[in-house]
Amino acid sequence: MYNCNMNKSIESLVVTLKANGYSVTKSRKAVFMTLLDKEPQSISEVTKAVGDTIDRASIYRTLELFESLSIVERLPIGWKHKFELSDAFAAHHHHATCIHCGKIVPFEESDTIKLELKKQAEAIGFIETNHQLEVRGVCSACQ
Ligand SMILES: [Zn+2]
Ligand SMILES: [Zn+2]
Ligand SMILES: [Zn+2]
Repeated sequence: MYNCNMNKSIESLVVTLKANGYSVTKSRKAVFMTLLDKEPQSISEVTKAVGDTIDRASIYRTLELFESLSIVERLPIGWKHKFELSDAFAAHHHHATCIHCGKIVPFEESDTIKLELKKQAEAIGFIETNHQLEVRGVCSACQ
C-alpha cells in the first residue's frame, strides 16, 4: 500500500537487528513479513497470519523485541492494541477507525497539523520525537 520495496525493508530489518546484537531468526523474519505493507494487526491476527510453524510465545517475544528496537509501534486502536511497522519501515501516516465495523483507514496528515503538534509539544517543554493520532468515527459504508 505504501509502495515499500520489500527487499529494502528486509535489508533494513537485518541491519537494525545486527546493529543491536540480534540475529535474524525464522520467527523474526516471519513476524516482520506479516506486518510489512499492512494496516495495524492485533497479536491474534499476527499469530493467525504467521501460521502454525511458529509458536505463540515466540511471536510475543518477537513483537516485544521489535517494539523495544522501534521496529514496530504499538497503537491503541479501537479498544485494543495493534502493531504496525514504525516510520522507519513505512511512510508516516495515521488511522481512522470505524466504531461500527472496525475498519481501519490510513490517512496522511497535513503539514499544518504536523507543525501544530510540534508547537503544542514545545509549548509544554517537549521536543517531539514521534506521535500517534487516531480518528474514530463511522466509515462511509456504515453511515
Ligand atoms: Zn497504518
Ligand atoms: Zn503524524
Ligand atoms: Zn464501518
